[in-house]
Amino acid sequence: MRYDTEQQILESEYQFQELIESSKNPIYILVGRQFALVNTAWLNMFEFTRSEVESPDFSIHQIVAPESLDLIQRRHDNFLSGISQPFRYEMKAVSKTGKKFDLDVSVTHLNWHGKHAVQGVYRNITGIKKIEKKLRKALKESREHDQMKTAFLSNLSQEIQASLTNIRETAFDLSRKHNESENVKEFANYIVNTSSNLLDHINDIIDISKIEMGRMTLNPEKFNLPDLIKDVMQYFLPSATNKGIELICCKKKKNSVYVLADPTRVRQIFINMMSNAIKYTEKGKININYVLRQDDVRISIADTGIGIAPEKLRKIYESFINPNEKLSGDYDGSGLGLTVTRSLVQLMGGKIWVESNSGGGSIFYFTIPLA
Ligand code: ADP
Repeated sequence: MRYDTEQQILESEYQFQELIESSKNPIYILVGRQFALVNTAWLNMFEFTRSEVESPDFSIHQIVAPESLDLIQRRHDNFLSGISQPFRYEMKAVSKTGKKFDLDVSVTHLNWHGKHAVQGVYRNITGIKKIEKKLRKALKESREHDQMKTAFLSNLSQEIQASLTNIRETAFDLSRKHNESENVKEFANYIVNTSSNLLDHINDIIDISKIEMGRMTLNPEKFNLPDLIKDVMQYFLPSATNKGIELICCKKKKNSVYVLADPTRVRQIFINMMSNAIKYTEKGKININYVLRQDDVRISIADTGIGIAPEKLRKIYESFINPNEKLSGDYDGSGLGLTVTRSLVQLMGGKIWVESNSGGGSIFYFTIPLA
């Protein structure tokens, strides 16, 4: 009976060793700092002979690279003090002839001939680590490159902005001169309108650059929201009337709602959303509304225009859309307005969202904090 049990133990130990031996990954059993068992894959990786490893002077420190000695010492100390630690970790190892490896190590605890031991499997991840390093470097370089491009674009746009502003102002003065012919005034008006359009795009590019470089600054102050809305309504009345669109606002609303935000930027948000509402609506109406909530005001701009198809909704805030992928057919646009708008709303601590459907109009919402 006793003989049978001993025989069974020997047989299962033999099978265990066979299993370990057949693995292509280096496997070991460690008792304290000494290796009780290593497989051939382990010997091949570290270039030691089995008798060298079995010598009582041989310890795990002989295959640990200097940069990982602390880690292995700490794990050993934690093991002795019973502190639990991850069963998977990474280390750097070194072979007898000085070849270095990055290893992914998986360990389990087991009883080895009555002693508490650790069984480990090494996976050589040197190649993966090299690729990871290259990728990190490439990512860093591409970020730096991107920042340089953004800064360059921002500088260039500011130059263009200054020149365009001059052109527009000169053309505007010309269009108002009494002694100029109607022809000249018409040309001057054309220049005013075109340069205004260009300036809008340039301003969007400057804002995007500022946001991307983290240099967008806001000047929050307490102001009356309904006054600003009235102002925006006045501004858009001519273009809406031109297209036969009715502008509706704030029926039965209070005259004073004080918010805490940057008024210039809130005006910019309104202007962007209202220009879009007018641009993408051929007939019907645009309704501006606001609802007071506990900490903020929720503003909505609803139009009866072409709407946005569900598959395009998530793309409307993206800065750079492939021109072949235009979201709204033949309508012109840089596609930067909503990107800037969303960043501005978020910088002010608010939220922006849209409810829309192809052909069913759109409702854009955003929130700003109450004063
Ligand atoms: P764009 O200059 O192209 O109008 P925006 O960033 O302001 O750029 O808007 C992005 C896209 O979102 C638009 O191209 C359009 O497809 C869609 N969009 C925005 N507002 C509306 C709206 N009120 N109705 C329909 N589509 C809209």
